[in-house]
Amino acid sequence: MTAANFDPVTQAQILDQIHESVITMDLAGYITGWNRGAEQLFGYSSAEAVGRHILFLYADPDAEDDSESFHDTFLEHGGRELEVRRRRKSGEIFWASLQLSLMRDASGQPIGLIGYLSDITARIEAEKTMRLQARIFENSEESILITDIDRRILSVNPAFCKITGYQVSDVVGQPQEFLRSDKHPTRFYEDIWDHVDREGNWQGEVWSRRKNGEDFPGWASISLVKNRDGQISHYFSMFTDITERKRAEERIHYLAYYDDLTGLPNRALLNKLVDQALVEARRNRLHGAVLFVDLNRFKPINDTLGHDVGDRLLIQVAERLREAVRSEDVVARMGGDEFVVGLFDITRREHAAVVAQKLLAALDPPFWVDEHELKVGAAIGISIYPRDGFDTESLLRMADIAMYRAKQSGQDGYAFYSHEMNRRALDRLKTESGLRRGLERNELLLHYQPKVDIASGRIVGAEALVRWNHPERGLVPPGEFIPIAEESGLIMRLSAWVLDEALRQAHAWHAAGFATLKVAVNLSARDFSPGLAERVGALLTSHGVPPNWLELEITEGMLTHSNPEVITMMDDIAALGVSLSLDDFGTGYSSLSYLKRFPIDTLKIDRSFVTGIPDDSNDCAIAGAIVSMAQRLGHRVIAEGVETIEQLDFLRSLGCQEMQGYFFSAPVPPEEFTAMLLEGKALG
Ligand code: C2E
Ligand code: MG
Ligand code: MG
Repeated sequence: MTAANFDPVTQAQILDQIHESVITMDLAGYITGWNRGAEQLFGYSSAEAVGRHILFLYADPDAEDDSESFHDTFLEHGGRELEVRRRRKSGEIFWASLQLSLMRDASGQPIGLIGYLSDITARIEAEKTMRLQARIFENSEESILITDIDRRILSVNPAFCKITGYQVSDVVGQPQEFLRSDKHPTRFYEDIWDHVDREGNWQGEVWSRRKNGEDFPGWASISLVKNRDGQISHYFSMFTDITERKRAEERIHYLAYYDDLTGLPNRALLNKLVDQALVEARRNRLHGAVLFVDLNRFKPINDTLGHDVGDRLLIQVAERLREAVRSEDVVARMGGDEFVVGLFDITRREHAAVVAQKLLAALDPPFWVDEHELKVGAAIGISIYPRDGFDTESLLRMADIAMYRAKQSGQDGYAFYSHEMNRRALDRLKTESGLRRGLERNELLLHYQPKVDIASGRIVGAEALVRWNHPERGLVPPGEFIPIAEESGLIMRLSAWVLDEALRQAHAWHAAGFATLKVAVNLSARDFSPGLAERVGALLTSHGVPPNWLELEITEGMLTHSNPEVITMMDDIAALGVSLSLDDFGTGYSSLSYLKRFPIDTLKIDRSFVTGIPDDSNDCAIAGAIVSMAQRLGHRVIAEGVETIEQLDFLRSLGCQEMQGYFFSAPVPPEEFTAMLLEGKALG
């Protein structure tokens, strides 16, 4: 700016008209002019200011530009606007914007300076706040994300990028949903946003997804930002990655509920789990068992070989115990060499004894720790709920008492708390060893029951039903030993014997000229192990029996618990040409569509429904439904347990094709069956 050549008075008058503060000075910095604006800004009158050096207005004359650098500042910065700190007469410091220009005389020689100042304290403060906010945004450890009202991302801070792995450009413009993990249902997020809109903010734990697809837990705080008119303009979300904290929490949980050495649940968790199981048991009338396992011979090992060896032995013991039971069962360590196994939901109380035997068998082979071959065993005490107790503490106490009883025998073994259970367990043991012997000594035999075609009245099949000719007890029915054979694993040998004997008989009948007779053999679930079809095929070949002379009966329960492997095995059997029938049908939960997955030829209506025919309308309806369902699915249908002519007539009227039962004949020894065939016995 070039000043005109006014005399000082005129100049002062002009300057007073200017609202801004204007100060003129000579080239050395001594004030020559001071307008009203300057008076108002600084609080000095013109008389007080004119003639003094400009430095007296500086907030900090020493630290800031001194008189020498005064020119340099000016020359360096020229007419540029500067932000400077100045001091009022009151001593108050303020920020001013300063613009300096040279004044020249007519010949163009500089004669002085003119400075315009205005107070910019408010603006500077605002800028400072903004800068501070920006610094916080940039440097915050917390991830910050700002969206517009449609929840599209406007900006994110570096912490956000660090936590999520996204670049700013990846996310800006994306909807905030972009970051969701599918650990929460959509409803969860909707609820959060409803809450934010209603209450203004929300805080809580949310899972989000990083760029690499990994989900992580965060502690989030979301708030809405309103503009001056009170309308929502933005959403502001902050969150911290709490993966570490969660891990720490999990660790604490682990330490509280798990045994550090073996990784098994500890006493505290066991108590909790048994408590829960007891609640379930009461509600659903289930049985459960608590098995207290106390190792034998552990103490001397620990004492002589040291704790390190002892610890490593315990780890191996824990593994073996864990592997011996099902995944739903609980194996816990009580401390020292004591473990507890919790069996929740067992169908029969005796199963606890089967598990105890399994545990003992698992501990039987020697353990190896370094070069030491170590033998340990255990005494196991068993309490059963609900019969022995209703709370965890007493069940554990009773199992402990039973364990001491087992210890007294001086050998590895188990004992029940209740005497009755001990007696039953003993009976079972006797039956099992007796059956083992019986199989070796050929004490088993087969009876056959005719299956009769209702339309023709003729015998079309023979169901083989096993009996045990016990040396002391005489003929024992299969219901008393098949379950024990299944649990002890003897069933495989038993079934092999039954199949072999039934096929031998089938061959004999066919050789005698009964060409249409089919022999049926019952299989148990345990028989369905890999290679079943091959074993059946090999037996057929060795007896010279074609596959269509054989039928295998399986129970409906097998299907409901079955896995894909069982279906494959059934398909393999069907592929041989052997037919399959579904025994005890109606007692399980098979649905129509479910049955279609299995290669079943015949449905066998369970005896319990036949019993009520024709008086019980429910039984009649069920029998009717099974027959029509079987027809629709293309299955044959047979009724078992038919004892009366009324039952037979009703079944005939339904369209049931075959019958079996005392009305025609009870199961009989093979000679009697042959006699029936020879005499041509038929339905009247
Ligand atoms: P299941 O296969 O349903 O056999 C029918 C059972 O009902 C037989 O009992 C038979 O004697 C009986 N029964 C037949 N007709 C009548 C009747 O009119 N009235 C009454 N009240 N009962 C009748 P059993 O022989 O005691 O066999 C019982 C179960 O043992 C069989 O039921 C079968 O599941 C199983 N079983 C028998 N033999 C074997 C075998 O060799 N292997 C396998 N795994 N299980 C077998
Ligand atoms: Mg059967
Ligand atoms: Mg049956």
